[in-house]
Amino acid sequence: MSTSAEWIARDAAAVWHPFTQHATWTGDDPVVVDRAEGPWLIDVDGRRYLDGVSSLWTTTLGHGHPDIDAAITAQLARLDHSTFLGTTHTPGIELSEALIALAPKGTGPDLTRVFYAGDGSSAVEAALKIAYQYSTQTGRSRPKFVRLEHAYHGDTLGAVAVGGHRLFHDAYKPLLLDTIGVASPGDRANGRHRGAVAIAELQAAMRRDGDQVCAIIVEPMMQGAAGMFDHDAAYLVAARELADAYGALLIFDEVATGFGRTGKMWAAEHAGIVPDLLTCGKGITGGYLPLSAVLAAEHVYDAFLARPGDTAPRTFFHGHTYTANPLCCAAALANLRVMGEQNVIGQAARLGERLGKLLEPVAAKPGVLEVRRLGTMIGVEVAAVGERTGFEVCRAARERGVWLRPLGDTVVLMPPLTLGDDETDLLVSALDAAVDEVL
Ligand code: PLP
Repeated sequence: MSTSAEWIARDAAAVWHPFTQHATWTGDDPVVVDRAEGPWLIDVDGRRYLDGVSSLWTTTLGHGHPDIDAAITAQLARLDHSTFLGTTHTPGIELSEALIALAPKGTGPDLTRVFYAGDGSSAVEAALKIAYQYSTQTGRSRPKFVRLEHAYHGDTLGAVAVGGHRLFHDAYKPLLLDTIGVASPGDRANGRHRGAVAIAELQAAMRRDGDQVCAIIVEPMMQGAAGMFDHDAAYLVAARELADAYGALLIFDEVATGFGRTGKMWAAEHAGIVPDLLTCGKGITGGYLPLSAVLAAEHVYDAFLARPGDTAPRTFFHGHTYTANPLCCAAALANLRVMGEQNVIGQAARLGERLGKLLEPVAAKPGVLEVRRLGTMIGVEVAAVGERTGFEVCRAARERGVWLRPLGDTVVLMPPLTLGDDETDLLVSALDAAVDEVL
């Protein structure tokens, strides 16, 4: 087997990585992952790293869980793939039933239909098209979306258009849909009691343009990729009320927050608010295979059913070759089964509390500006002392056997929900020492 250095040279000659500046990529000495066990990544040289970000927020049960491995293998022996256009299959049906049973309950409609996609961005893309087409089929065309400052909903054009992350948004501006940008309730500029300013701005935007808006899209309780900005439940209550008052749909993007990440199955449960469309992905298969879904309310689904006298088809013209791939559905079913049997949500809530306690001394360090946390979704914002301070802290943690990824100068901690005590201690002590080294 070649060494890491040899693989990195071959990588540099052939591969174009996502969200990566290749002028500095090899200089950053990337980890060449060879295998993984539980919460550990192991590189081709045999070095072990604690996977502190669950392989981009996905491996909620850790790597190599025997139940998920077995479910995929068993499914492979029966049916590897068949299209969801014109045929159906048992794992796709069973998973839809399971997701509907787990859907959040509260103020808002029951979510009773499942539309599959391949990743978070494509789930968002489907939700946006559903929302726009819903408007045309229930009244008249409302071509605008309300989006939040700092939002991240993915990297396809529709998803970028409803995002508010300057870096990703501005680069593609001429290509993007017309949207109405409003303040983020998690924005620190809006003060400690976050949300009041943002609610007022959302109200004003809906008063002004509400009849043009087909949907308001929100990452509930925590804007993730912008740097982990948490906000109050009151914002979701207001967004639900305003969507209803102006006849717009409410979309919650739970791609990052879903499946226990915030200490509840859905972040929406912290507010008791149910959207009309809920997108999810990432942890749905426990991080084993790419799958995502849009959960939809019955009134939304109903608007897509043909009626006598229609002059245009109401079909949702959307779907991909691998929509609802049976292996992905089987992995997701096994993941949900394990989550239920082993009370993974309870474990996640406890792990979040423990991390919160352990991080208190880190939060008190002079170089640490803020620790933001909901469940096991954590951002540790550090003061910039160079061009890439967040990155340097992650590099220093890696030297201590912990793999982390920053969002700018916010170091993200999103470990597997089932992380053991010893590994949790290692995660925080490595971060603590890394902060001391860099700041
Ligand atoms: N929505 C949210 C809230 C996300 O955090 C992400 C990814 O981080 C996405 C959508 C896009 O998901 P994917 O990268 O799987 O396309």
